[in-house]
Amino acid sequence: MASKRYFIERQPDNKLGTLTFNINSRVKNIVGSSTLAITAKAKTLKAQGYDVVNFAAGEPDFDTPDSIKAAAIKAIETGFTKYTPTIGTIELREAIAKKFQRDNNLNYKASQIIVSCGAKHSLFNIIQVLADSGEEVLIPSPYWVSYPEMVKLAGATAKFLKTSAKTNFKITPQQLSENITRSTKLLILNSPSNPTGMLYSKKELEQIAEICVKNNTFVISDEIYEKLIYDTSPYTSIGSLNKDIFDLTITVNGVSKAYSMTGWRIGYCAGRQDIMEYIQKLQDHSTSNPTSISQAAALEALQASEENVLSMRNAFKKRCEIMTSALDKISEISYIKPQGAFYVFCDFSRLGDSETTAKRILDEVNVAVIPGDSFGAPGFLRLSFATSEERIQEGIKRIAEWIRKHPIR
Ligand code: PMP
Ligand code: GLU
Repeated sequence: MASKRYFIERQPDNKLGTLTFNINSRVKNIVGSSTLAITAKAKTLKAQGYDVVNFAAGEPDFDTPDSIKAAAIKAIETGFTKYTPTIGTIELREAIAKKFQRDNNLNYKASQIIVSCGAKHSLFNIIQVLADSGEEVLIPSPYWVSYPEMVKLAGATAKFLKTSAKTNFKITPQQLSENITRSTKLLILNSPSNPTGMLYSKKELEQIAEICVKNNTFVISDEIYEKLIYDTSPYTSIGSLNKDIFDLTITVNGVSKAYSMTGWRIGYCAGRQDIMEYIQKLQDHSTSNPTSISQAAALEALQASEENVLSMRNAFKKRCEIMTSALDKISEISYIKPQGAFYVFCDFSRLGDSETTAKRILDEVNVAVIPGDSFGAPGFLRLSFATSEERIQEGIKRIAEWIRKHPIR
C-alpha cells in the first residue's frame, strides 16, 4: 500500500470506503478568494430575504450599457459563436492597441496583445510564464488577494513590500531597491490599488521604473481600475515612461470595471513578443479563446463613446464623498481618502481582530465587508462603495451604531 500513489480503502464487505490520494502540492497550499466568498455570502443572504448592505462587492453595480449588450446579441444572431483565435479576434486586438495608444501612450502591435477570460486570467498567465521556482515576485502589501496565490501556483516565492498609511500605502524607491536581490524576477504594481485606492504619480512611477531597469526586474502593471480615478492628475502607465521600462513591462487591463462587465470575462495583456508567445501556448492548452460573444461585446465597449464610463466614474466619485464623509463621524476608525477604484480601506484596529469584526458586523447588523487579513493587512476592513448612495448611508449608519454598542475596551 505504502508505495502506491493513491488507493481506495475498501470496507470489509468490499463497498467503497475512503478515497486516499495526494493533491498536487502547489494547489494544496493555495487559499480560496475571500473577496469572492464573502460577496457570494452577501448575495445569498440577500436572496434569502435578509436586508444586507453589500460593502464587500468588488464589482460595479451598474448594468452593462445597452450598446454593449446589443453587440453581443448581434454576435449570437449572426452566428459569431465559434472558436476564435486563442489570443482573441484581430478586430478586438486592434481596438485594444488603439486604446493603449489613445489612453496610455503605449505603442503595442496587435500581435503583442492577448485577450483572456478576465484580467485575472491574464495575470495568472503572465505569472505562470514568468515566475519560476527559486525566483521572487515582489508584491506591495496591502495587495489584491489573488496575486500571492498565483505566485504560489507558479512555484515561485512572493516577497511582500509592506506599506502603511505613513507612505500612503505606496512603496518607496528605497524600499524597492533594498528588496531586490539576484532572485527577484518581477514586481506587481496595481495603480489605482485594490484595496487601498492609492494612485502612483508619474514621478513615483519614474523612480520605480529607474530601479527596475537598473536591475532588469520585470513589472506587471495591473491597470484594471484606470478609468475609475477621482484625482485631477492624468493617469500614467509605467510602460509609457521610456523604451527600457516598456520592454520590461507587461500591461494588464480589461473591461470588467470600466464598462461594468464583470460577468463577461474579458481581460487582456500586452508585452514583449517573446513573452506573449509563451502566454499564447499556455492559453492554447487551457481555455483557448475567451468567449466569442463577449469579445464582440468588448469590441463595442472599446469603440463606443466614453460617455457611460464617465457617468459611472462621476457616480463613484460622489459615492466616495458620501462614504468618506459618513466615516469621518466615526472617531474610532481612520482611513486615507481613495484616489481611485471603489474601496475605502479603513483602519479598524482599535476595535480588535478584523476577521472577528467583519464577521460580527455581518451577523449583527447585516453589513458585508472584507477583512484586511486577506489583503495582508490585519486590523483593516475594505468597504466597497459600489452600491447606491442610500445603501452607503444606511451601511455606515449601521456600522457606527455597532461600534457605539461595542466600545473599545
Ligand atoms: N486586478 C484587480 C486589482 C482586481 O481587483 C480585479 C477584480 N476582479 C482583477 C484584477 C480582475 O478583474 P477581471 O478578472 O474581472 O477582469
Ligand atoms: N476584484 C474584485 C474584488 O477584489 C472581485 C473579486 C475577485 O475577483 O477577487 O473584490
